[in-house]
Amino acid sequence: MRGNVWLVRGLLIFSQLAALITFIAIIGQKKPPESPAIASMPVIPNIIASSPIIAPEKVSQTTPSPQINKIEFAANYQPRYEISWAHPNNYGPRYDRDVNGVAVNNQPIIVIHETVNSATSAVNNFQTPHTNENAQVSYHTLIKLDGTIIYIVPREFRAFGAGNSVFRGSKGIETVKTHLQFPPSVNNFAYHVAFETPLDGRNNTKNHSGYTQLQYNSLAWLIAQSSVPEARITTHKAVDRSGQRIDPRSFNSEKFLSLLKSYRR
Ligand SMILES: [Zn+2]
Repeated sequence: MRGNVWLVRGLLIFSQLAALITFIAIIGQKKPPESPAIASMPVIPNIIASSPIIAPEKVSQTTPSPQINKIEFAANYQPRYEISWAHPNNYGPRYDRDVNGVAVNNQPIIVIHETVNSATSAVNNFQTPHTNENAQVSYHTLIKLDGTIIYIVPREFRAFGAGNSVFRGSKGIETVKTHLQFPPSVNNFAYHVAFETPLDGRNNTKNHSGYTQLQYNSLAWLIAQSSVPEARITTHKAVDRSGQRIDPRSFNSEKFLSLLKSYRR
């Protein structure tokens, strides 16, 4: 009997050891779990493959066709947004006749700006009722450094984004005079969108470090919601006739247009 007890004990210990060894072997074969930070990250478009967040070789391993994934990224991108409507004193109606009563029917254009100051101070300014007409300003939308879109003026209204200005399109010069005292401008047919300026650009220098990838993504996403053709997307600098506006400084139009194409597919 004693011998049998020891035999049973021996068998038990042996079977437990065998189970433990098998368990370790199974665990050893299992791939380590993917880092949740990478697994939950959206597919990165080719344009930011060199971003330090993911090394380029990592992107090429997981994205055999950058073109397809760029489109997938565009299809899934959904920027954060806020609504901070401007005071109605800082925008007006879009007119179907100019100040002289001549009918106008320009196709829309999109004008890209930068705030120079922070997004918060720009929004505060737009929400302040200004009795001095020269101080009445607004954009339709503003894109913060983190890519958040702030809606400021409903698109069916005329935001006061540009003063003395013209758009030079395929049909020649386009501008509309809507006020007796002010020079004609593109505002009557423009959609104004501004980037929040980076910290090193809160001054009058000619350049700064540029806008964030999130800002480019949100701008491309926003404009892709419209059918405004590329030829009618412009900058404040390009439409300005005062010689004083140089925004958006350090804007990478190639980067933007490449993103816009992927968002419009
Ligand atoms: Zn501007």
